[in-house]
Amino acid sequence: KMDVKDKFEGSWRLSKLNVEIDKDPGKDFLGVSDGLLEQIAKVLEFPVASFLPAEAFTVVRKSFDARKLLKTPKFVYTVDMDVDKLLTFEPRLWDFISEMEPKMGLVEHIPQEKAVGDLFSLLHDCKKDQEGTLTVDAGSNGSIPSYKPKVAVVGSGPAGLFAALVLGELGADVTLIERGQPVEQRGRDIGALVVRRIIQPESNFCFGEGGAGTWSDGKLVTRIGKNGDSVQAVLRTLVHFGAPKSILVDGKPHLGTDRLVPLLRSFRQHLQALDVSIKFGTRVDDLLVEGGTVKGVKVSDVTKNSLIYSQELSYDAVVLAVGHSARDVYQMLLSHNVELIPKDFAIGLRIEHPQQLINSIQYAALAAEVQGGRGKVPVADYKIANYLSGEDAESSYASASRGCYSFCMCPGGQVVLTSTNPSELCINGMSFSRRSSKWANSALVVTVSSKDFESLNFHGALAGVAFQKELEQRAAVMGGGNFVVPVQTVTDFLEERISDTCLPQSSYRLGVKASNLHELFPSHITKALQDSILMFEKELPGFISKEGLLHGVETRTSSPVQIPRNSATFESTSLKGLYPVGEGAGFAGGIVSAAVDGLYAGFAAAKNLGLITADV
Ligand code: FAD
Repeated sequence: KMDVKDKFEGSWRLSKLNVEIDKDPGKDFLGVSDGLLEQIAKVLEFPVASFLPAEAFTVVRKSFDARKLLKTPKFVYTVDMDVDKLLTFEPRLWDFISEMEPKMGLVEHIPQEKAVGDLFSLLHDCKKDQEGTLTVDAGSNGSIPSYKPKVAVVGSGPAGLFAALVLGELGADVTLIERGQPVEQRGRDIGALVVRRIIQPESNFCFGEGGAGTWSDGKLVTRIGKNGDSVQAVLRTLVHFGAPKSILVDGKPHLGTDRLVPLLRSFRQHLQALDVSIKFGTRVDDLLVEGGTVKGVKVSDVTKNSLIYSQELSYDAVVLAVGHSARDVYQMLLSHNVELIPKDFAIGLRIEHPQQLINSIQYAALAAEVQGGRGKVPVADYKIANYLSGEDAESSYASASRGCYSFCMCPGGQVVLTSTNPSELCINGMSFSRRSSKWANSALVVTVSSKDFESLNFHGALAGVAFQKELEQRAAVMGGGNFVVPVQTVTDFLEERISDTCLPQSSYRLGVKASNLHELFPSHITKALQDSILMFEKELPGFISKEGLLHGVETRTSSPVQIPRNSATFESTSLKGLYPVGEGAGFAGGIVSAAVDGLYAGFAAAKNLGLITADV
């Protein structure tokens, strides 16, 4: 039995509070409704819900559960209860509180106020600690040493932005170098691509301020644990720069491009206020290396003649956060004998259905409540996976067991072009915050490894990159050029025949062409996709439909390469002073995990450069 006085310390977390749709104000409401109070009373075994003061409860997680097993879909809440507040508002609850005990999985007592991941408080504490240390070690006049280590952060995707933020806050002299354009110009370049087919090789869906995730769905879900302090620190920082607070509570948070663009602008303004120098339209072409240590970078101005406007810049450290589409950077690293290891990733196709169909499959009659993203329940998504044992495979390359799964599902979104040059074609998905388009798209991908790369005769550190490129070039040829995407209905893909002229509409803006997508991949990959699609139909009846259109090709699911680094210092194992971070280095997959990696790398570099003494 708990001591009564302990019950007043910390907080109480109540989980698995299920509120039925008709008793909930809807997906956008994050307060405490009467329906939720009823459930709180039930879990607490308190007889009169109306006695419970709503002010004593805070919603910390809300998600929508529409699994097929459930008779009625519902909202599922996690709520924190403040006992002091509870008694302030309703002193008659004293007797009840004194009897209350934790209940496994439903009512948990958190003895101390849980530390929430607030990056700015952490940075503030680090700076305070360091002021003390520096004053003790200071020179003859007792002042803090004035030398600021010079750091180049290459790439302004989530990894680079968070590394630059941490290093800038901790007093480094940071230059953020980005080959692409700021969001304002990038938006115009993407507009020209979508409307007039003009691709800017350095300013597109992959390159530019905010990195690959700017014109995206902005899903903030991550496999690295949403409740961890580092993930919370990233989410809270995004809120600081303008993201809605709901991302801290939503079970499946997402932003959408329209929210990402202003957020990035405010992130940039903060960095500039910290004296971080930002060089857009500037590409790092080479590293300056002396005696196994990086001494700087060679850059060119990509808006001008890069042969003429090329210069060498000296730095004490270089954070390399270039993402996985910067294939030229991998090649450059090899020229310095930096170790690169081929890494497994996944390839496949992007399937698109009418959103209405996915809503009906997932919600049945409740689909009417979606109302194009403005209704009570969220626009429906799905997550499907199939494990293929490889036992009945025909060739030795096919015998590996592998997974096939949906990836980067974009409800109410559109299919977009993510190639960076016209001879290659690859795609991904994006959406706006409302997710109100009439389409639902998702990649269906199969895991591939070195054995698959060898099957097409690609070997060595960049075999995976060559494999990706080969498939992207095949897709470009199949589409007939001009960024036209090869497509096939899902039924025809299964029956291995070209789709007739009456194709379903696609959200892809640059045109589609009926093609034999079943011939795009090595045959065992096609078979893996076909077998898995048949399985997915069992889970989502209606998934195999004439209205389901497969688009080719999805290749850049994660990095095909890893750049090994020391796990404590984050420095490359090949070159001192080089910090490979984020998705391109093979240490992240997605916006949040890349940001978390950049954040840790920033602290590690700050420590190595003497800006802080403690490990973070
Ligand atoms: P990136 O974001 O790729 O950033 C790298 C930056 O480095 C780029 O801006 C690039 O221009 C710059 N750069 C490259 N080479 C150089 C050089 N030589 N010199 C200077 N600068 C250079 N993830 C999610 O979690 N949720 C989603 O909903 C989601 N949707 C996506 C939709 C699309 C269309 C795409 C393309 C990706 C999506 N992703 C999504 C993946 C996500 O964007 C990436 O995982 C994430 O951006 C990786 O972050 P990063 O900082 O490691 O690299």
